[in-house]
Amino acid sequence: MNADRYVRQMTFKEIGIRGQRKLAHASVVIIGVGALGSHAADLAVRAGIGKVRLVDDDVVEIDNLQRQTLFDEEDARLARPKVLAAARRLREVNSGVEIEPVVGRAVPTNILDLIQGANVVLDCTDRFSARYLINDACFKEGIPWVYTGVVASYGMSATLAPGETPCLRCILGDPPEDSSMDTAATAGIIAPAVSVMAALSVAEAMKLIIGTGQRNPGLLYVDVWNNAWERIELPPRRPDCPVCQGKYEFLEK
Ligand SMILES: [Zn+2]
Repeated sequence: MNADRYVRQMTFKEIGIRGQRKLAHASVVIIGVGALGSHAADLAVRAGIGKVRLVDDDVVEIDNLQRQTLFDEEDARLARPKVLAAARRLREVNSGVEIEPVVGRAVPTNILDLIQGANVVLDCTDRFSARYLINDACFKEGIPWVYTGVVASYGMSATLAPGETPCLRCILGDPPEDSSMDTAATAGIIAPAVSVMAALSVAEAMKLIIGTGQRNPGLLYVDVWNNAWERIELPPRRPDCPVCQGKYEFLEK
């Protein structure tokens, strides 16, 4: 670990040299490398998290560039797979971090392999079907994960840790239909909302890895256009939640 590189971060007393070493030995999986995922990956790699795995099956397009900060016009012209374009850029940013791009989608048959060994999983997808899959996999493996969703000017965030907090299914019940939800395609999206939510997500990951600080204990709602910051308390774990009873239905689909 190059200590000079992280001197400002280590001077922050909640991290220090010990926290920085923990980051260097940690592994984070980022599922979805669009707007949220590219912001989050940039922050995670600059912070010196030792290993960052990127999972996405999409290619860069010109209308991504307004908010997907790791990509440029050449990536769009060549329709580069997002994880490969991101990995190339991130290796230039920090050659001390192991970047592992996976061109593909997280599905029931691969997700347990994808998250194996991770300290934290960051949900940077835009679909509830993917989030319920991540929830099943992470609760099965005992890995904390950070749920983040952004659309238009607002986002939601929750940090879900097996054995500590309820799971996504305890909170939201059965998944809403993906087609019933607003998306960036239907409601638009602005980059500052993405930046805020990605920053919150990586801060949660750093706190989980280092073990200091106060994590988000609820469901956080932020709207950067209307300047709303609200936190709803998480409900208690649902006694009839299949996931919390060890039934992982989304891993079987
Ligand atoms: Zn549950």
